Amino acid sequence: MDEALWEAARSVRSYLDELVGPEAPDLDAALCELLSDPHRGEHREYQLRMIFESHEGTRVFLERVREDFPEFRPPQVLAGSTTRSSGLPGDALPVGADKFTCPHGDYVWYRPEVGAAVPLCPTHGALRLT
Ligand SMILES: [Zn+2]
Repeated sequence: MDEALWEAARSVRSYLDELVGPEAPDLDAALCELLSDPHRGEHREYQLRMIFESHEGTRVFLERVREDFPEFRPPQVLAGSTTRSSGLPGDALPVGADKFTCPHGDYVWYRPEVGAAVPLCPTHGALRLT
């Protein structure tokens, strides 16, 4: 199973507006359908790849998610990571963003900053901190 691909499919949904503009609802519906299918075989992975390949923004998103092995976080999360220092030179540590997931496994969201309101899974509702 291509774990990076599935993780990217879950996490890209909250960035579709900025990545593909007006086509976001169509892509989200297609991703949602694939993520909701319990049979995650090679054919489904092929369809997912085609969705990511269909737009430059989503294609690059998937590439960047793959590079963040093994956590597969979105590039927006990595770019927004703040650092805290222990006071020693060169000892800044990245602070991970809190990760929220839908219990049904079709939606992942990273809190960009402390206090930001947690959204709902468009399909199922409340997300939980993981
Ligand atoms: Zn869900």
